[in-house]
Amino acid sequence: MPQPPASQSGPEPASGAFETRAIHAGRDFVGETGAVTPPVWLTSTFEYGNPGGFDYTRSGNPNFRLLGRAVASLESAEFATVFASGVSAITAIVSGLKSGDTVVAEENIYGCTYRLFARVFAKFGVSIEYLDFTDPASLEKIAEHRPALVWIESPTNPNLKIIDIAAAAEAAHAAGAPLVVDNTFASSYLQRPLELGADLSLLSTTKYTNGHSDALGGAVCTNDPAWNERMIFAQKALGLQPAPFDCWLTLRGLKTEAIRMERHCANALRFAEFLENESPAETVRYPFLPSHPQHEIARRQMRGGSGIVTADFGFDLETTLRLVESLRYFPKAESLGGVESLCCHPASMTHASVPREQREKVGIGDSLVRFSVGIENIEDLVADARAALAAVAG
Ligand SMILES: *Cc1c(COP(=O)(O)O)cnc(C)c1O
Repeated sequence: MPQPPASQSGPEPASGAFETRAIHAGRDFVGETGAVTPPVWLTSTFEYGNPGGFDYTRSGNPNFRLLGRAVASLESAEFATVFASGVSAITAIVSGLKSGDTVVAEENIYGCTYRLFARVFAKFGVSIEYLDFTDPASLEKIAEHRPALVWIESPTNPNLKIIDIAAAAEAAHAAGAPLVVDNTFASSYLQRPLELGADLSLLSTTKYTNGHSDALGGAVCTNDPAWNERMIFAQKALGLQPAPFDCWLTLRGLKTEAIRMERHCANALRFAEFLENESPAETVRYPFLPSHPQHEIARRQMRGGSGIVTADFGFDLETTLRLVESLRYFPKAESLGGVESLCCHPASMTHASVPREQREKVGIGDSLVRFSVGIENIEDLVADARAALAAVAG
């Protein structure tokens, strides 16, 4: 059997730029077969005493190691642990807390993260306090809550608020807490939170890492050996492990992350400019549009604006839903970050689990539409949006 690398993720020996590492990281699995592409190790258990140190797939599998090494390399992290989904990765982090602990989080947090804290972790005595991290006065309030953890996303979902990660890390550390950044919307190619001072970077690899909408997955990246131990423990003790085949698909997907992200960024910028200049949209949000309120920070900490654009057309609920359903190349679906464009109505889909009051407080009204701009020909996408807007206006 080909020998996988010996540690779960370990320092990445592959050198070179992002694009090169995405393709060559972890290639030492080939062993004696010469295979250029790794196999899928479809096995639940391993013979005792094997040189890879594997015992049971819940606590490790060669496909997990290969993916973990590649993700760690792309996030500039020493360690990465892979999970069944982004939500599993969130669960793994929070399982390191104890009753009585408080998490301070950005108020425009991902809907499922909000639900996990409100409906699950609260029952175990972990509480959460929400702040607006784009407001400098909020950063000063972090310490008052004596947080065990500070939790942000940037860009946020779906409002695409940009949080200054270096400033948030400084404020978290001054309060004695580690900073977790959910890096899913940005992708490892465009933004590396650990380089900006974060302690943990979390990915739903379901989105841009894999990029093909065919597997779920999550990862937690860190340079801290203690957090890494906790993540490995959570993977096996809580049963949060991914499937070997999903890891194989995700590893295949991430080889093209750089080139996909370049196209996502170019297409989304053009799409956002179209909506801003040639559509009835009242507000258009895209981090690399000069009109974005945190445009300067986005330019500083991201290599591109990523692939998500949100627009508020000011339509009533019925017209908004008609618009969404009139699009031909943007199927109405949850999720994002795949090669295909998608669109989503956050208030009734991704954020339906957030109470209306909280939703409206953070700007997720009935007239908001989120576009995940894919890598199709951009003029086809613009023509599609133009036609759908004309249809509902008529
Ligand atoms: C999708 C998503 C998650 C959850 O990931 P799953 O793989 O769907 O479990 C977490 N955070 C963000 C920002 C996401 O977009």
